[in-house]
Amino acid sequence: RLYNEVIELKGNIRVFCRCRPLNDEEIAKGSTSVVDFYSAKENELKIKGSNSSEKRFKFDHIFRPEDNQEAVFAQTSPLVVSVLDGFNMCIFVYGQTGTGKTFTMEGTAENRGVNYRTLEELFTVSDKRSDIMRFQLYVSMLEVYNEKIKDLLVEDSNQPAKKLEIKQSAEGTQEVPGLSQVPVYKTDEVWELLKSGSRVRSVGSTNANELSSRSHCLLRVTVLGENLVNGLRTRSHLWLIDLAGSERLGKIQVEGERLKESQFINKSLSALGDVISALASKTAHIPYRNSKLTHILQSSLGGDCNTIMFVQISPSSEDLGETICSLNFASRVR
Ligand code: ADP
Ligand code: MG
Repeated sequence: RLYNEVIELKGNIRVFCRCRPLNDEEIAKGSTSVVDFYSAKENELKIKGSNSSEKRFKFDHIFRPEDNQEAVFAQTSPLVVSVLDGFNMCIFVYGQTGTGKTFTMEGTAENRGVNYRTLEELFTVSDKRSDIMRFQLYVSMLEVYNEKIKDLLVEDSNQPAKKLEIKQSAEGTQEVPGLSQVPVYKTDEVWELLKSGSRVRSVGSTNANELSSRSHCLLRVTVLGENLVNGLRTRSHLWLIDLAGSERLGKIQVEGERLKESQFINKSLSALGDVISALASKTAHIPYRNSKLTHILQSSLGGDCNTIMFVQISPSSEDLGETICSLNFASRVR
């Protein structure tokens, strides 16, 4: 254990809130913002409801519509480096579809998100430590849809997806046998690799955003470390997770396939909420087994592991109901 400043950050759970800007369509319609950042205390925001009601929510950090990807990563990077010290970590984005979950994690070519910036940071820091440590990084990507696991980094995306399951190893960690692991060596190659994974995610759907809003996308970075001085080896995982949209479906839509999907999503998101709030309140029993999502992450949530939850919200008055639901979810895990 060489890096004391990182050690202090173990076992940390942080909840960040990010609010996207009003979009052109909302502005054209005359929608107004219900989120007030400016008259609230630091790290607090106020939601203005109809009939002049007001609710306050507090977070570890709040990103306003004008905050860019650099600002978001500046708050994230101190924790991600802990994976190089052998600690596991999870980063989640939670929220209604259209609030910027994928923008925060994937981003665009011009405005790259947390996933890319994390790998870039890990390469930079591992280079700095190369006098005493040797690191090898691997990337895996998988999707959880209706409690089924699909590999997103298969070479031939036309092949039928292999059915993947979670198995417990002899050491007691949760593994997904057969999941592709791609070794990565430098920042340049990472962007295309991440893009290829998200392309496979949308295969078979007429509307990419529609399907992606109903599945969880998990990017796993595996770090193998070897201390060149004492020969000590570490293996750790950093999970970067774009969750399914948290919105509740309207009564009319809830039938057939959609009903099943929506039940799976509700179940896994509430299972995640239960696990994180149990961890935050230091409860003895942590209910990891209630969903595939929490089960896969069992060895990477709790204990020495760091966690960041981004709660993404829309500022628009039309989304007020969903915004309050997301903020309430966030308050429960904090
Ligand atoms: P989600 O993944 O939650 O469904 P997206 O990431 O697809 O949402 O975002 C919806 C749209 O809003 C996209 O066009 C995205 O580029 C845009 N957007 C989201 N957040 C921001 C932001 N902070 N700044 C600018 N544009 C944003
Ligand atoms: Mg998305």
